[in-house]
Amino acid sequence: MATRSVDYLLIGGGLASGNCARWLREEGGADGSILLVGREPDPPYNRPNLSKTYLMGKDSKADVLFRPDEWWGEQDIELMTRTSVTGLDVDERVAKLQSGEEVSFGKALLATGSNVRRLRVDGGELDGIHYLRTFGNSDSIREDAEQAENVVIVGGSFIGTEVAASLTALGKKCAIVMQEDITLELPFGKQVGGFFHGVLERHGVAVHGGDELERLEGEDGRVRRVVTKGGKQLDADMVVIGVGVRPT
Ligand SMILES: Cc1cc2nc3c(=O)[nH]c(=O)nc-3n(C[C@H](O)[C@H](O)[C@H](O)COP(=O)(O)OP(=O)(O)OC[C@H]3O[C@@H](n4cnc5c(N)ncnc54)[C@H](O)[C@@H]3O)c2cc1C
Repeated sequence: MATRSVDYLLIGGGLASGNCARWLREEGGADGSILLVGREPDPPYNRPNLSKTYLMGKDSKADVLFRPDEWWGEQDIELMTRTSVTGLDVDERVAKLQSGEEVSFGKALLATGSNVRRLRVDGGELDGIHYLRTFGNSDSIREDAEQAENVVIVGGSFIGTEVAASLTALGKKCAIVMQEDITLELPFGKQVGGFFHGVLERHGVAVHGGDELERLEGEDGRVRRVVTKGGKQLDADMVVIGVGVRPT
């Protein structure tokens, strides 16, 4: 028996849910109750800034939020952060929350997005190795970068090239290791990707294409070197891995 009931249940705390809530109220004319449940500590925010302006310290957290905190109350949308939906019975139209609470709904949106793909390699547990998906990840990268001189980025697509560009702008010496020959080759092809590849190199980024991560080596628990399958050894005070996502 559900402990509470809502008209619209939005599962997932990302932009898809945020926009759904927005359009339900602003354009859809929905006046029923809306509950947005997300497992992150923050309300919906714009992830694109995390590898660009937020990472470079040009945007504050408030700038990156999908909507300011007070907007949710003004729109009469209930936000439940730090909460996972752990079960969904679509026949009964009931969702189970991690607290054990059950919520019955009229309509539900399932917008649980993606998680980063993690690489299982020797040395993957060392300090100074980062992935980027959340506010917290971006904060950790920036914090670590303050002490770092050499940064190795694994992956030469959107996340890898954007992090390389942002950290280079912050004065860090960046290198990219990637399987493709040309950065951004997969989404854009060799010609357009080649343009960005050239821009990165002209700004001092060392791009190691046609290679891949073999292992990470460290000293005193912290990463110090990236070893590639092609036999390269790259000095690294920190590593950022951007090798795609998996659906949640
Ligand atoms: C650093 C970075 C830069 C990017 N830059 C760009 C860009 O420049 N241009 C562009 O178009 N796209 C960019 N993207 C991609 C874009 O951010 C995503 O396409 C977008 O975030 C997808 O939104 P979403 O709401 O579908 O999913 P997500 O953002 O993945 O959100 C899903 C949310 O649901 C939560 N969740 C998952 N399971 C549950 C559960 N069981 N219960 C409750 N909550 C749950 C997750 O914790 C997460 O908060 C970037 C992504 C990143 C990480």
